[in-house]
Amino acid sequence: MMNTPLRHWLIEHREPLLAHWQLLIEQQAGALVAHHQPTPALNGSAGFPAERTILLASLYEGLVDAAGDDVAPLNDRLRHLHALRQQPGEADLPRYLSIMAQLRRAGWDLLSDSAHMPTSVGEFETWRNLIEQFDRLIEQTTQALAEQWVSAAGVLQHELHETKLLVESLYHDAEATDRTTLQVSNLNQIAQGLSANMDRTQQLEIVGSTLRATLEVALLSIWLFDAEAQALILARSWGHDTACPPLGTADTPAVAEDLMLRAFRGGEIVAVKTADPAKQGPWYRPGHAVLNVPMIVQGQVVGVIAIQDASNQTFLDRSQQEFVKSAASQAAIALENTRLYNEVLRFNSVLEQRIAERTNQLKIERDTLETVNQIAIETSSTLDRDLLLEASLTALAKLVGVKYGSIMLVEAETDHLIDCAVLGRTGEIGYTRFAMGQGIVGWVAQHKRPAIVPDVCADPRWVPLPDTNGEMRKTTGSMIAVPLIAHHQTLGVLLLSHEQIGYFNDDHLRLLNASAGQIAIGINNAQLYTEIEKELLHRSEMFQRQESEASQSQAILQSLSDGVIVCGEDGAVLTANMACERILERSIEELVIWNLPELLRRLLGRRADEVPVEELLARPIDAYHKLRSFATVFQMGTRMISITLGPVLNSKDALMGAVALFRDITREVESDRLKTEFIGTVSHELRTPMTSIKGFTQLLSMGSLGPVNDTQKEFLQIIQTNAERMISIINDLLDITKIETGSVELDLRPLHLAETLSTVMMELQPAIREREHELVISIPPGLPLVRADSRRLNQILGNVLSNAVKYTPRGGKIELDAREVGSDGVPEQWRDGLKPDARYALVEIRDSGVGIAAEDLDRIFDRFYRTENPLKVEAGGTGLGLSLVRPLIELFGGRIWVQSVLGEGSTFSMLIPAAL
Ligand code: ADP
Repeated sequence: MMNTPLRHWLIEHREPLLAHWQLLIEQQAGALVAHHQPTPALNGSAGFPAERTILLASLYEGLVDAAGDDVAPLNDRLRHLHALRQQPGEADLPRYLSIMAQLRRAGWDLLSDSAHMPTSVGEFETWRNLIEQFDRLIEQTTQALAEQWVSAAGVLQHELHETKLLVESLYHDAEATDRTTLQVSNLNQIAQGLSANMDRTQQLEIVGSTLRATLEVALLSIWLFDAEAQALILARSWGHDTACPPLGTADTPAVAEDLMLRAFRGGEIVAVKTADPAKQGPWYRPGHAVLNVPMIVQGQVVGVIAIQDASNQTFLDRSQQEFVKSAASQAAIALENTRLYNEVLRFNSVLEQRIAERTNQLKIERDTLETVNQIAIETSSTLDRDLLLEASLTALAKLVGVKYGSIMLVEAETDHLIDCAVLGRTGEIGYTRFAMGQGIVGWVAQHKRPAIVPDVCADPRWVPLPDTNGEMRKTTGSMIAVPLIAHHQTLGVLLLSHEQIGYFNDDHLRLLNASAGQIAIGINNAQLYTEIEKELLHRSEMFQRQESEASQSQAILQSLSDGVIVCGEDGAVLTANMACERILERSIEELVIWNLPELLRRLLGRRADEVPVEELLARPIDAYHKLRSFATVFQMGTRMISITLGPVLNSKDALMGAVALFRDITREVESDRLKTEFIGTVSHELRTPMTSIKGFTQLLSMGSLGPVNDTQKEFLQIIQTNAERMISIINDLLDITKIETGSVELDLRPLHLAETLSTVMMELQPAIREREHELVISIPPGLPLVRADSRRLNQILGNVLSNAVKYTPRGGKIELDAREVGSDGVPEQWRDGLKPDARYALVEIRDSGVGIAAEDLDRIFDRFYRTENPLKVEAGGTGLGLSLVRPLIELFGGRIWVQSVLGEGSTFSMLIPAAL
């Protein structure tokens, strides 16, 4: 087919041309129309018969083809035009020609329309050609029409029939197309309606009412499957006047025939012209045709659309069924979407609610954290306990939303809980007190557990308290209390109260619990701080005191006239006073650079062993728990200096060092020497005349120089006795002098103790007899010889024995024992200086006399010391005897000591070295 400009133009302007043509024909005359029965309107074109429209359209198509030089289809259609005659022989030709004329006019109208008018020479040419061709086409067509008309006179009857059938089928095709178009448009409408809506009721309304209007049916209902009820539930109905009960979907024989269920279970369209009402559910209206279409989404039947009508049965047509099926599946999808959407909405709202709840929770948690943090900052920034309590309590009360509260702390002395911070009641700090375990607060403190009390009145632990005015406090509302615990120790209780019953909840408890630890630590810190502060103050006072004491001691030390050198535990000299410089003739600087043992070695040479610093530092206390000390005297040039060494212990008896005391005793030594010399000289000078007195008195009393009467004799005897006493005193004094000047001459030799004793006993016998004492002497035969000076041993034994005789009341008992001992047989106190492997004779003289008080035991060995006792006067004496005995026996290398019980008797023990 040729694609001529005319054909092109005709195709391009099909719509306006056809419409205009149709309009012109209508306006011209209704002649053609008048002969036809009107067919139901399928579209909006008012009153124009459908087949005419189709015919014109078909004719037009023929013209299009003819414009492309293919005239056959046009001729065909013209034949059909001819066949439209109602009665054979009817003179229709003029009218048909008129139709063509109208087309020509329509064409011209369009071509002369301003939009189509040429604006250039080139365009004009085209335009003119087009007009020409168009005119020609009309002309040819008119011609062909006329020819056909003429030749058609003998058209065969069957041809006519054929044409009629063709037109009919064309008509039906067109109608079907229209209906499909309508259905598509309705489906489209449904789809748009559904997609624009998410409301189930409205969606049902859109689907139901559109379907019902389109299909023109009496009854329509939509049934949806309810999973919970396992039944089809009537969701919405149109035309039904009664409500239908749910239709159970369970597979029971009773409902086997039900068409609704069949559609639902099978997922297939069920279409029947009529059904047996007995076998149907109440949804069925007898005598009605039924179309039940399942609603399927994703292979799942979710409901059924049920259509019923008694007269109109077009909905049973296949195409209608398809239409309903499409609508049903759209509805199913939309409803499912809606269901999902609603679920999402519901889920959203649940989520929103959860978010709101969580947000609220987070807010509370944030507030809680903020408060706890604030408290933490507070506790770490202040060591003022009261400030801390106040701030914490206020912050917590604000967060919890209460006006009343307090913090009660445990008072260490009484173990009572006492208000230390109070909120809501003024001026009551320290007023309220609870014993441990008393009241709710006491309970919390004792059990170390928090308590929420919804109604204090109803709580058995509640103890109502009077307020400061003596009136009972208000006792309604609720309370919360938590223990304040630090390092496992309950420091107190924090409590908040509210007038409302049941005000407090677990959130409050959590908050309080979280804060309680912080507060407790803060309190603990504050208390520790206070204690440390106190301790510091105490120490600084002590330090000041020590400082002043030290400077005082230093001042005293410096002002002493004796030299003092103090050394540490290691012997290093710590301090030396000014007097040292003078006494030791060395500068302090020189003294302090040595250690004390070295210094003493320099001063004393070999004699430094007499003041053994190292030994003292190693063993500052002796076996009798007394401080050891050493002393000696040494010469420095012409001066005599005494040195005394002792340990320095602190208040806890721990060794700190040693102190050496130096004293210049040159003058004392000198005066002592002079005194001894004087006594020696005087004694010596006295002894010569006393000897003469004694000798001449003896001569006189013997009557060698003439007769003496009894009285004279008696007097001479007294003179003689006193002279002897005097000589004895003088001898003692001379002995003292000798001992002091170190000029005692000893003749040490082995002696029989028994022999010496017998000499002594001879002298003492008269006195023993006179005093009627019993004397028991026991000397074992194997006793070794002793090494001693015979005269001095006599003197020693005589002195001790005569004391026993003198200081024992008449008729007493005196025992003398002797035995051999090693140094280990000697009491420790007297062992010092003894040779460990040496042998000794121990002589013990026991009496049943007056005894010696403990405090006198040492002093009786001092010169001139005599104890107060009942026999003091009767016994007579100078107190010199024992003071001679001790140095003499020590000169032998022996020892003497005494044990006594006052009023019962004494035992004098003498240790004398055995002769080898
Ligand atoms: P005197 O006997 O001349 O007084 P001594 O030196 O011998 O001096 O004794 C000193 C003192 O010791 C005595 O005065 C006496 O108080 C006491 N005394 C000595 N021996 C005994 C003793 N056996 N019993 C009690 N007291 C004694």
